[in-house]
Amino acid sequence: MDLNTALRSRRRSVGMGWLWLAFLFHLAASLEEILLDTTGETSEIGWTAHPPDGWDEVSVLDDKKHLIRTFEVCNVAEPGQNNWLRTHFTERRGAHRVHVRLRFSVRDCASMRTVASSCKETFTLYYHQAESDKATLPEWREGPWTKVDTIAADESFSQVDSTGKVVKMNVKVRSFGPLTQRGFYLAFQDSGACMSLVAVQVFFYKCPAVVRGFASFPETFAGGERTSLVEAMGTCVADAEEASTAGSSGVRLHCNGEGEWMVAIGRCTCRPGYQPGNDEGACKVPSAVPMMHQVSRTAHSITLSWPQPDQPNGVILDYLLRYFDKAEDEDNSFTLSSETNMATISNLSPGKIYAFQVRARTAVGYGPYSGKMYFQTLVGGERSEIVQDRLPLIVGSALGGLAFLVIAAIAILAIIFKSKRRETPYTDRLQQYISTRGLGVKYYIDPSTYEDPNEAIREFAKEIDVSFVKIEEVIGSGEFGEVCFGRLKPPGKREYTVAIKTLKSGYTDEQRREFLSEASIMGQFEHPNVIRLEGVVTKSRPVMIVTEFMENGSLDSFLRQREGQFSVLQLVGMQRGIAAGMRYLSDMNYVHRDLAARNILVNSNLVCKVSDFGLSRFLEDDASNPTYTGALGGKIPIRWTAPEAIQYRKFTSSSDVWSYGIVMWEVMSYGERPYWDMSNQDVINAIEQDYRLPPPPDCPSVLHLLMLDCWQKERVQRPKFEQIVSALDKMIRKPSALKAIGTGSTSLVLFPLMEESVGAKKSQTVCLRPSQPLLSNSPPDFPSLTSAHEWLDAIKMGRYKENFDQAGLTTFDVISRMTLEDIQRIGITLVGHQKKILNSIQLMRVHLNQLEPVEV
Ligand code: AMP
Repeated sequence: MDLNTALRSRRRSVGMGWLWLAFLFHLAASLEEILLDTTGETSEIGWTAHPPDGWDEVSVLDDKKHLIRTFEVCNVAEPGQNNWLRTHFTERRGAHRVHVRLRFSVRDCASMRTVASSCKETFTLYYHQAESDKATLPEWREGPWTKVDTIAADESFSQVDSTGKVVKMNVKVRSFGPLTQRGFYLAFQDSGACMSLVAVQVFFYKCPAVVRGFASFPETFAGGERTSLVEAMGTCVADAEEASTAGSSGVRLHCNGEGEWMVAIGRCTCRPGYQPGNDEGACKVPSAVPMMHQVSRTAHSITLSWPQPDQPNGVILDYLLRYFDKAEDEDNSFTLSSETNMATISNLSPGKIYAFQVRARTAVGYGPYSGKMYFQTLVGGERSEIVQDRLPLIVGSALGGLAFLVIAAIAILAIIFKSKRRETPYTDRLQQYISTRGLGVKYYIDPSTYEDPNEAIREFAKEIDVSFVKIEEVIGSGEFGEVCFGRLKPPGKREYTVAIKTLKSGYTDEQRREFLSEASIMGQFEHPNVIRLEGVVTKSRPVMIVTEFMENGSLDSFLRQREGQFSVLQLVGMQRGIAAGMRYLSDMNYVHRDLAARNILVNSNLVCKVSDFGLSRFLEDDASNPTYTGALGGKIPIRWTAPEAIQYRKFTSSSDVWSYGIVMWEVMSYGERPYWDMSNQDVINAIEQDYRLPPPPDCPSVLHLLMLDCWQKERVQRPKFEQIVSALDKMIRKPSALKAIGTGSTSLVLFPLMEESVGAKKSQTVCLRPSQPLLSNSPPDFPSLTSAHEWLDAIKMGRYKENFDQAGLTTFDVISRMTLEDIQRIGITLVGHQKKILNSIQLMRVHLNQLEPVEV
């Protein structure tokens, strides 16, 4: 049956209705399985010759001077030759048809002087099937032996033999079948040739196991006929299903006589939501990367970045970047792999345009390449590189302005072309990277600008297969559910520890969105002092956010547990890390709004990382959390927040700088609560009247001065994070600057600012009373209090009533003039209680408008 007949009969039997795909193709190289091979034999092979003076086994040197065993016969002078050579018994091992590859040389009868007229240049190949080697051997004649073919020399190639003679070497392949018994013998019949059988190989073909059309097919042996098509049933790969076609009954491929897959019938397709791989081998490969951006460039390098594919379909292990000089052949492309979604391509030529493509890889393979994008290196070599490398801060604002103009222009163009460019939704949205003459500016994208929040998640957070995540222990409770310690083991990578935030069951769509918004924000950041997102689990329950694990937990409780145990330099090192993380976030145009020690995480190396990017706590109407106060839609952590942000919601990186100053204070006081037990309203009033937190005990003056700078009333006068980092760097480089410590006595009271900016007069030690009149809305507790006892009860210090009475301290007027020493003198020894009382006295003085100059 030839192939067309096979196809025709196949079509007839299955009916045209569901044979929707039937085509010929060669899918993969066939496999040869060897059953017998004399190549390379050096010791006696021992086949049987009949008669004994016919075939002879001899050792010769081949053209490479290797010893080989050959069978020779050369009885050309005498007619009537019938010389047989028989192989050993060979098991067929499941083969239906075997192939014999013969390597031999035959002397040309005309080239020999004494030859009979019966001289031949051919020989005959036979086979005989048997169930075992013990079977009675057949007579030396056709009949019991089945003839395969008479084989003629055609002098296909020449070779020099060991004696230097040129011999013509022939290679012929013959096949026979179908085989039904356990094994077979081969026989070579010579009828008067002068020949040498140099090598015999016996093998059969099989079609290799393949995955095609989203179905996997097992290894299949070729059939007994040359034209056989052996049918193999396929199984749909993971996340694929059989394409539903009328009358469909399975997915099939056919193995032809030469071990090649042919004739596909039926097929599988990826289930909805799964992306086909480019070779139709799997459905868990990532989709194409939608876009690439130039981050920076020099004359010899280009740095590119790209978002992750819309459908990662698994954990992305790495990316493969392909690039080539546009002026050259695409075949001369280079590749580069990158574990992150950013790569610098070096060793490029100046002023040349290069084409770039990128594709993502998951455990199941590579996704398709993105479309080609072209980027050009700078012209002018070194000069350009130096200009870029040295972009100084001074020109930063000019370039920042330029970048701003470019962004504004893009925003306007985006609006104008929005309707026309529906097919490129990514470019319609805010651009992450704007390249202005090589200056890369990366901006944070607010996930709430996405119509579909899931799109933001897909773009900025890797989906982690839940089977890679192992939850081990609950370590805390977050706003949306438990926070756990666990391990992540991505395929092909080492297992590492992670923190896992879970979304408790029974959540609403909105809660899910809010919970995941933190991941869409975190996923945009990559900095050693910003908590790193590993990915999210959204395709199973519970929904999880997986981040790097920070062994020492949150900074405030860590410091409280380790009070007094760190050197000033270690504390400054922590502050430096937080400032560096904040510098990065502010460079990304991200305003944190909730910078506080409780939102800094600490790892085992004391590295501090900014965390907590959720915005929901500002929105939720949760009366149980007094840290965040205000009306619905405007909850604010008062003690950490700059006055302009409290008053009119002006949140900027400068308001983050204010909060940073509070964090510095929290660090230096080992986790003390800012403004102690003062009420939020008292804090607001005191700040408004230019009172500031005093230096914590043993706090170097330079650090307190830096805090005071962060707490400048005018936000433009506050330092930038960049300046804070370099100020701290200087202190770390020159620790002698940290020696001068503020006096202890003032560390328990609020610190009045001078009338002018503290920045100019930081070194002065006497602070004047504030110039502003007191607020008309006095702290709420004092007007209602009529006696010292009531006051002590109100601040939960009622136990000291007797101490106050015995010292005759019964009126607010007298009490409001007390100093720390006075408080200690009346027998209040606990430092916390001293602070509490002194703080309240401070407010009492504000209320009574009795502020005096305070020595610091
Ligand atoms: P959060 O919901 O982010 O405020 O987390 C609640 C608590 O879980 C924090 O105060 C930490 O104690 C702990 N936590 C959160 N994330 C991590 C992390 N990445 N590593 C260690 N502990 C964490």
